Amino acid sequence: MTVALILGGKGREVVTTQPHRTLSEVAAVLAEKGIGAIVVSDASRAVLGILSERDIVRAIARGGAAALGEPVSRHMTAKVTTATEDMSVNDVMELMTHGRFRHVPVVTDGKLIGLVSIGDVVKHHINEIETEHRALREYIATA
Ligand code: AMP
Repeated sequence: MTVALILGGKGREVVTTQPHRTLSEVAAVLAEKGIGAIVVSDASRAVLGILSERDIVRAIARGGAAALGEPVSRHMTAKVTTATEDMSVNDVMELMTHGRFRHVPVVTDGKLIGLVSIGDVVKHHINEIETEHRALREYIATA
């Protein structure tokens, strides 16, 4: 299964923010949308960084509540690992395991076109296992 198929199922909308926004503003968006990370991008949808709930927790642990007033650019990860639509879900899982992160933005021609989270990858695996079990049960029942 490819990244394109996952995006086909979940949609291509990605919640984004800009570098000058504050951690407090982003925390409100993460809470409202029920998501764990936000992609930092510009008007041309180029990926400038990613900020996850872990970055916000780390910033508060270091700087206290005052960190919530600081800009996203100070706390985001600027070196973002991205995926392309033609990559397999296993490739993306490897990126997540290797990099120890749970979100991978999907990019085409330098532009953000989707995001795969660890939740999407787990859902995909459960579906695959269920399909395999169903096929095996049908095979046994009809053999
Ligand atoms: P996460 O597990 O996605 O909540 O993120 C854990 C840490 O990895 C945070 O510091 C994020 O900024 C960073 N991070 C998340 N996704 C990526 C990514 N695709 N590429 C690089 N760093 C990332």
